[in-house]
Amino acid sequence: MSYQVLARKYRPGNFQALEGQTHVLQALINALDSNRLHHAYLFSGTRGVGKTTIARIFAKCLNCESGVTSTPCDQCASCTEIASGRSVDLIEIDAASRTGVDDMRELLDNVQYMPTSCRYKVYLIDEVHMLSKSSFNAMLKTLEEPPEHVKFLFATTDPKKLPITVLSRCLQFNLKNMTPERVVNHLREVLAAEQIEAEEAALWQLGRAADGSMRDALSLTDQAIAFSEGQLSEASVSAMLGTVDRREVFDLLQTLSARDGPALHQQIQDIAAYAPDFMALLDEMLSVLHRLAIAQIIPAGIDNSFGDREQLEGLAGQLSKEEVQLFYQVGLIGKRDLPLAPDPQIGFEMVLIRMLAFELEGPGAPSRVSPDPGQEPLTSGEPVEAKQSSSETPISGLLDRLNNAAPSAKPVEPAGGGESGPKEAAKVADKVASSGKLASFVVKAALSSAQAQSQETENVADQAETGQAVEPEEPLPEVATDLNTELTQNTEQPKSAGPGLQVPGETEVIDAGHWPVMLEQLALNGITQTLASNCCLQRLEGNEIVLILDKDHSSLCNDIQIQRIAEALSESLSRKMDLTIEIGELSGATPAMIAEQRRLQMLEDAVQEIESDGNVQALIAG
Ligand SMILES: [Zn+2]
Repeated sequence: MSYQVLARKYRPGNFQALEGQTHVLQALINALDSNRLHHAYLFSGTRGVGKTTIARIFAKCLNCESGVTSTPCDQCASCTEIASGRSVDLIEIDAASRTGVDDMRELLDNVQYMPTSCRYKVYLIDEVHMLSKSSFNAMLKTLEEPPEHVKFLFATTDPKKLPITVLSRCLQFNLKNMTPERVVNHLREVLAAEQIEAEEAALWQLGRAADGSMRDALSLTDQAIAFSEGQLSEASVSAMLGTVDRREVFDLLQTLSARDGPALHQQIQDIAAYAPDFMALLDEMLSVLHRLAIAQIIPAGIDNSFGDREQLEGLAGQLSKEEVQLFYQVGLIGKRDLPLAPDPQIGFEMVLIRMLAFELEGPGAPSRVSPDPGQEPLTSGEPVEAKQSSSETPISGLLDRLNNAAPSAKPVEPAGGGESGPKEAAKVADKVASSGKLASFVVKAALSSAQAQSQETENVADQAETGQAVEPEEPLPEVATDLNTELTQNTEQPKSAGPGLQVPGETEVIDAGHWPVMLEQLALNGITQTLASNCCLQRLEGNEIVLILDKDHSSLCNDIQIQRIAEALSESLSRKMDLTIEIGELSGATPAMIAEQRRLQMLEDAVQEIESDGNVQALIAG
């Protein structure tokens, strides 16, 4: 038997098997059981949340031979025919492909005839918002007074595009997005039925990547099974998705807690080899720090929803509460500044060096949960006085300096020479010693500055979501290789481009070299962006565009992704484009390769910069 994709194989056949949408199901079940039926229903919601699935089950409920019921028998001829898609009285129309008024007239002419074998003739129109205006007008009269034996079921991802006149004649149900919890629960059941082992953390990666759509979750799981040859591990799933492996974040925090500068630097280099999304990496780090803080303050409040409880508990004992708060704050500010950094990797590296540098000054150390016996107490008067004389408490001073620090500022400033007597120093030492008080103070300080940052952080997050390119503030260093010359030209072009896709003059042929610029203007995100950036442009003629996909990334390619890229291209070029993605030998550098080349160059520059910086060297050595 041929392989059936998970989304079809595990498509629910009755309301009880459906995940979520209880608010919609309850209303439908009540209507069916009390036989108070409307003649037109509209199901709206994003892709893959169950619109057509619910509509098909509803059609079964209407036509089951045992009578109109919310629990169809699944045995009778009507039920089995509808389930297998063979029923002549369930007429499914994809409005995206049949938008014309002639199609609609033909359909409406048949409405008057009685159903062939069922109780009701059910018209299921998917993506109904795609119908033309004249089609809607042709339908209105029938929709107003349909024959007794006809039911209309509409599904749409965009109800705002429906005419009011149509909306007002339908009973509308808005389906909710699937939460990651719900997706993970369902995946767990499906994989158990398929007898495929999966790491808990891998399921959560898939659950979050699905972005609210159960169908996407199952498609991704299909790919992950193929990609990882049977067993779903966190590493293989994150490699497939191009997302962050949470273990890397734990390793980084482990190294930070060990204050091992050289190891930290090496780790960042190793991670950079995979060309990760540094903003996502920083997000992941903040998420781990948040869970660490909960683990330290309310140990019972930690669930295993990321499959990482053991690691969390281990790390919670190695870092002090103050350190966790400080790292979180440094990370949050780093996230705000990341788009301003000349390169995301430099920005990320600076954030970690800051965590290390501020921490090395010592004030966070006093209340480690399991103190290191070899560690010297840092509360003696001399260093505290020298370093903290200008601020009220050590950590609030650090936070102030962090908040005021410009993105390009050195991580450590020389100690201020403010006036302070021994009395002041004693006060500071006293505060440091009473760690309980300090902890609550730090939380307050962190909260208030976090609030101050939240507006800007949101902006940054928005930028990250829309996949906006981070443009270097300074011109790129001149490098003699062809790739970089091409890159410099490419990054300059979009600045002068208008809102639409910039296409060379009529006589000029669009060749492979234009692809990176075109891609940037498509503003794709997530997996779609990863897929497209691993392609080369093979041909663009008229409405036809052919991309070649690097075979290492072939697992990312599926119909949904191709459709998304095709839609973005059609919109940009203002004409309907037919996209083909062929997997094979690349004819040149992909945008991903060009970006990688640029990253390596930036990293080299950054390493040189760091190595030539006396302050940083002193810190790492210390
Ligand atoms: Zn039945």
